[in-house]
Amino acid sequence: MSENVFQRCINPDCAASYGVEETLFSCPACGDLIDVRYDWERLEVPKSLNWFEKRWATRNNKIDFSGVWRFRDLLPFCEEKYCATVGEGQTLLQKNDQVGQYAGCRPEKLYLQYEGMNPSGSFKDNGMAGAFSHAQMVGAKHVICASTGNTSASMALFAHILKLQCSVFIGSGRIAYGKLSQALDFGAKTIQIMGDFDDCMRQVKLIAGERKLYLMNSLNPFRLEGQKTIMFRVLEGLKWQVPDWIIVPGGNLGNSSAFGKAFAELKQLGLIDHIPRLAVINATGANTLFDLYENKGLRFNNGKVDDAAIDAYYQKLNDTGYKPHTLATAIEISRPVNLKKCLRALEICDGVVREVSDADILDAKAVVGRFGLGCEPASAASVAGLKLLREQDVIGPDETVVCILTGHQLKDPNITVKYHIEKQGPHSNCPVEVKNDMADIIEALHV
Ligand SMILES: *Cc1c(COP(=O)(O)O)cnc(C)c1O
Ligand SMILES: [Zn+2]
Repeated sequence: MSENVFQRCINPDCAASYGVEETLFSCPACGDLIDVRYDWERLEVPKSLNWFEKRWATRNNKIDFSGVWRFRDLLPFCEEKYCATVGEGQTLLQKNDQVGQYAGCRPEKLYLQYEGMNPSGSFKDNGMAGAFSHAQMVGAKHVICASTGNTSASMALFAHILKLQCSVFIGSGRIAYGKLSQALDFGAKTIQIMGDFDDCMRQVKLIAGERKLYLMNSLNPFRLEGQKTIMFRVLEGLKWQVPDWIIVPGGNLGNSSAFGKAFAELKQLGLIDHIPRLAVINATGANTLFDLYENKGLRFNNGKVDDAAIDAYYQKLNDTGYKPHTLATAIEISRPVNLKKCLRALEICDGVVREVSDADILDAKAVVGRFGLGCEPASAASVAGLKLLREQDVIGPDETVVCILTGHQLKDPNITVKYHIEKQGPHSNCPVEVKNDMADIIEALHV
């Protein structure tokens, strides 16, 4: 298998290749990001996507049950015996006309992809299935990550089931309680660093390199292989039809990067005939991608990215002491590690980037909660972004749109309760306080 599968630096001037059994989080030659690559000509790949439906019949085989591994022919980097699974990817693509109406779409046009249904409550489980399989393949003993919360919850869940040691770095005070409670419950050694996510990320990269620990952040290219399957399941939910738009919140930009790679590969394999457009949504308080892509015109440019422009941008963030700030803590990141891969995805998918305010995120989240299965704040950025793109008429009212709801409603209950009790927006549903008296209670009920 190995010569058909390899790792390769994304920088076209370098393009160094490495074996799939190597553990790399950046190119040893030039420091750029690494991809997992396949020589598709020499691999056996199904001729049509509906072929994968036959695995529905064999779901008592746990890798056919997995929403990641039942697509293993499209991420064939390891032998089946290494495939790690906790039952991830049993997700739902739900048509939602009421949320669609809120965002300005015609009926039947908006779908919500509920990744909160994963075992740890976020899409991260898809990526961890990929990365933990590679970790098992290379015999890793101790896994580590920096996290705004969901990465640590997911990593800790997998680590404990697969009997690996695990440590997580989180910024002080910047983690939702639902997520922190999971990392603690799952037994992760939890190091709270006095700093933000970007500080944690810098430390974890250094320490993973120094101590040879296995890094589970989305710099790990095997994470992104697992996350490609979110798009396979979206297509499956649409009976293998390609939608017009995919909308996803952008934090470290692993998801958007994985989606672009998924579509490029499906197109190359002739499994789809065209590629949907991609919209990545930042929070206004953590808008590096928006600023670089939409304001400064930074492009992937066939791999010849203007590194000097990125360096200058980050230098300015340092000089001004900029700290990202948004209630959507899962996307409170100002130095997204997958920036270049996301630029590539935007090129592949003719993408756009937008920013939305915390107030807009909270309103969209309340609408998803009322009419859908609920989601955490960062996830609702996708719906808030859709509303904005409809107002700008970038997306037409008759276009088919899929918003990715990245995390579960119960990840961050404090923000939800505060929104309703403090009547922060038009969709607030404030509890009514009454005396312990039947007449008063009936009056409050309006029945
Ligand atoms: C991690 C995460 C994000 C950000 O995804 P990236 O791949 O880092 O851009 C968004 N929403 C939720 C709920 C997350 O856990
Ligand atoms: Zn390189």
